Amino acid sequence: MRRLLVAGNWKMNGSAEFAAQLLQDVTAQLNDHCDMAVFPPFPYIAQVAEQLKGTPVQVGAQNVATDDQGAFTGEVSAPMLTDVGCSMALVGHSERRTLYGETDLVVLQKTRQLLANDLTAVVCIGETLEERKAGREEAVVSQQLALLIEQLSENEWDRIILAYEPVWAIGTGETATPEQAQAIHAFIRGQLQQVSAAVAEKTRILYGGSVKAANAAELFAQPDIDGGLVGGASLDANEFTGICQA
Ligand code: PGA
Repeated sequence: MRRLLVAGNWKMNGSAEFAAQLLQDVTAQLNDHCDMAVFPPFPYIAQVAEQLKGTPVQVGAQNVATDDQGAFTGEVSAPMLTDVGCSMALVGHSERRTLYGETDLVVLQKTRQLLANDLTAVVCIGETLEERKAGREEAVVSQQLALLIEQLSENEWDRIILAYEPVWAIGTGETATPEQAQAIHAFIRGQLQQVSAAVAEKTRILYGGSVKAANAAELFAQPDIDGGLVGGASLDANEFTGICQA
């Protein structure tokens, strides 16, 4: 059985004080309904990891470098993430793909860096509104998955979590319907059959895009949705906890 994961992507929000207060409020309401993780901005990761020590909440980064050290001004490597207490990182978030030109090849390189350092990669995929209107959502996600499916070994999939995030639902208040999300999650799981039946069965596929406490239960009730990658609502302790309770 796949255990649900609710992951909070804080994006470029908050402050040291905000992070401390948010986590104090979240940990005061911890429950055992699902796995939980938070992805703070880089400067707050160490403080967050320290505050969450002894809790089941995991800490991740929102990005990682394609190399592990050297002359890469402004980059943060996978070993550094381990060093400050991360167990996972996001890769290929749509904002990274569109604003910072992260290609499928870069996504593969970053994923490899994480796996080589025993970190879990939460790889984000999803189509834009134009692509969905053109009926191309399956073509887009299979293209985004192709290199990973081709290049990674079956064992490496043990440390990969996928997050399907339709770009048109991110930060827009517009959520895919549970049926729309389920259909594409089932398609994605079908693609993983190319790796193996076991990988298709055990890989967690999160849904992301305007998830909130009010819509989480019906999304998570779908058979191929294994939790959520939550942006805006993860900055509110009651919303985030409500999603975990869903
Ligand atoms: P949102 O963001 O929940 O604010 O739509 C989701 C994400 O980008 O991970």
